[in-house]
Amino acid sequence: MNEHNEAVAKIIIGISTNALNRTFTYMIPADLISSVDIGSVVLVPFGKGNHLKEGYVIETGHLKEKPEFQLKYIHSLKDNVSVMGELLRLGFWMHSRYQCPLTSALKLMLPRDIDVKMKTFKTLVLDDLQLKNLQDYKGSIKDNKKLSKRYEILDFIENVCVNTKGNHYYFLEKELLTRFNTSSSVTKSMEELGLFRRLDETYERKIDILHAEIPDKKVVLSPEQDQAIEKVSQGMDQSDIYLLHGVTGSGKTEVYLQLIEKVLAKGQSAIVLIPEIGLTPQTIMRFTSRFGSVVGVMHSRLNLGERYEQWQKAKNGDISIMIGARSAVFAPFEKLGMIIIDEEHEHTYKSERDPKYHAREVAIKRALSHKCPVVLGSATPLVDSYQKAQLGQYQLLEMSGRAVTGAEKAIEVVDMRHELESGNTDFLSRSLYQKMEEALSRKEQVILFLNRRGYAGSVSCRSCGFVHTCEHCDVSMTYHRHNGRLICHLCGASKPLIKTCPSCGSKYVKGFGAGTQKIESHLKELFPQARILRMDQDTTSNKHGHEKLLGMFRDRQADILIGTQMVAKGHDFHHVSVVGVLAADMSLNVQDFRGAERTFQLITQVVGRTGRGSIKGHAIIQTYQPDHYSIVHAIHEDYKGFFEEEILFRRAMVYPPFCHLLNIVTTSENEYQGRELLDQCVRVIEGAYDQEEDRLFAVLGPGKTNIGKIKGKYRNRLIVKGSSYKKLTLVMKELYNRKDRNDNYKHVQLSMEINPMGFN
Ligand code: ADP
Ligand code: ZN
Ligand code: ZN
Repeated sequence: MNEHNEAVAKIIIGISTNALNRTFTYMIPADLISSVDIGSVVLVPFGKGNHLKEGYVIETGHLKEKPEFQLKYIHSLKDNVSVMGELLRLGFWMHSRYQCPLTSALKLMLPRDIDVKMKTFKTLVLDDLQLKNLQDYKGSIKDNKKLSKRYEILDFIENVCVNTKGNHYYFLEKELLTRFNTSSSVTKSMEELGLFRRLDETYERKIDILHAEIPDKKVVLSPEQDQAIEKVSQGMDQSDIYLLHGVTGSGKTEVYLQLIEKVLAKGQSAIVLIPEIGLTPQTIMRFTSRFGSVVGVMHSRLNLGERYEQWQKAKNGDISIMIGARSAVFAPFEKLGMIIIDEEHEHTYKSERDPKYHAREVAIKRALSHKCPVVLGSATPLVDSYQKAQLGQYQLLEMSGRAVTGAEKAIEVVDMRHELESGNTDFLSRSLYQKMEEALSRKEQVILFLNRRGYAGSVSCRSCGFVHTCEHCDVSMTYHRHNGRLICHLCGASKPLIKTCPSCGSKYVKGFGAGTQKIESHLKELFPQARILRMDQDTTSNKHGHEKLLGMFRDRQADILIGTQMVAKGHDFHHVSVVGVLAADMSLNVQDFRGAERTFQLITQVVGRTGRGSIKGHAIIQTYQPDHYSIVHAIHEDYKGFFEEEILFRRAMVYPPFCHLLNIVTTSENEYQGRELLDQCVRVIEGAYDQEEDRLFAVLGPGKTNIGKIKGKYRNRLIVKGSSYKKLTLVMKELYNRKDRNDNYKHVQLSMEINPMGFN
């Protein structure tokens, strides 16, 4: 045998555990030699039982020496699915940057869960004619209680069809059945009625997503838009990063559209990231109406089959623009010409699950490989990004003027301390109440924002606004009812809660516990005539929940909308004349150094969106800290002013961007084991750092996390500050390795992340 000349491939087995973080060598059968390449997905016999497993080829070559044991052959090649070389390298990079299993990084480059056997998917299909039938039939069974499940399913199908406007509509039977918790007998009987057909052949389908109906009007660019486009156009072959700082309504989307035009003209493709919540049909339509069928969309509401198809189209070049949330950054375009990240400050761009990547970092990495620009856009950029622009690492593009002028608007800040002094203990100030009453009597709509992140247990004086903060961390402390103490969740410091305010002596020291639900029932008492919609995690838990609620509100099926920040995003409601922010400063009181930034973002959004219709808009901002710089600058729409104060705070307290933070969290059933593991981590970390070398090095904690116990498991936290990102990843690696080797802690879950966007 001349084995030493055999073609072989190094393969990673596609199972996401640390143990499999190594490669296996397989021989390539003669008939596959020409097709197996780096990035191929193959099936290989694995382990004692030689069960077929999916593997990713990361290297090919020839055997130089006779191996010590007989190598196995690759069983077969999964065509249609291949990770391109660039994405594969990206996976390796993510593996080292985020210290995640390589396979879990590589899985992001594949359409999710595509290893489910596609052929077994039962797909239901209908066309426009059938849709018409379906609507008629649906109408005929509307009042038939026995067929209510059928009605629900048809209603859902109809909604999706109407919203997607294609020629054919596809549904996975399994998904329908799970969604409506029913059996296939229901779909079978509807199939027999001819309401839809069943596709049993190999998975093959076509979805026309959102083909535009509204004709697009070309606009005359404002000088600022023109300048921004001009500047980026000059660097189309370089991997520069641009920060497009443009106030709400300055026309950033138009800039994106025209830049994409240039990308397409070069025969290249573009990725546009938009936060999930902003991926509404209206937003997508702005792209499809300009570019038509070359636009693909990737978001969490797509089913597996749809994802697979979008992914394939990008790979085959059938589409050249991919719009989507975070994971669309992995769109497998061969010739990528630009990556745009809208609302770059959004914390959802950071994945909270392994791999804990930030879409911006991945975008920048991909852009380097493709030699193409990255454009980050926001009305309220992250302080970290704006700082990079100040330092010249990003190119700053400013757009301070509005593309269209809206209606008149009035902004009012209500000092809630005065409300209390005047005897008003309600959560609505007199001014907000009055404005609401007036608006409702004119049949105009009202939106109330709750700064949900703030409702996590911070304690403040309702008379003077004093907030208990930690002397070590300058973040607010959290009240723990079981022992009556205030605890800092960053460093673990604690003190007893004194019932009188240390600042003014008032007895109105209270935790903020009122959630949206409580406020809703109170509003019902105040405005019995008004129809109220509540939008929070409870009311929007199902897939289409929030779109449905927003749709109802837009159609004026309700008068008041209460919600968390999610309602502030990119929605224009033309009949809204009053927008109230109930407790604007609440996110200042969260155990998070990004509190001021979040407050600034929220208020800027509210102010920017007020008065966009034709009626005069009122924004009423209730706060205990009307003089706080985040509030003052937001009201004046002065980002620069805010940035200058915030950056001083970050510098003084040594928070990002002046350092990197490693967040280490343990989760354990045994309260002490989790804590003990962190204590050991501290020793390892202190050993790893020479404090002379890194003056920023500091260890905060261990202490409890914000939510100290979830589902019976205790959560503890440790934070490490350092100046070198690389060094922190090495520390992470070392800690994971030690944990894996130590059986004492096998019941403790250890999770680490550098520069998280939030601390829960
Ligand atoms: P942003 O994303 O910066 O908040 P948009 O891109 O949504 O702003 O633009 C706001 C509105 O202004 C949109 O209705 C858009 O069609 C319109 N618009 C943008 N640029 C122009 C322009 N140059 N002339 C007229 N209208 C414009
Ligand atoms: Zn007080
Ligand atoms: Zn502290």
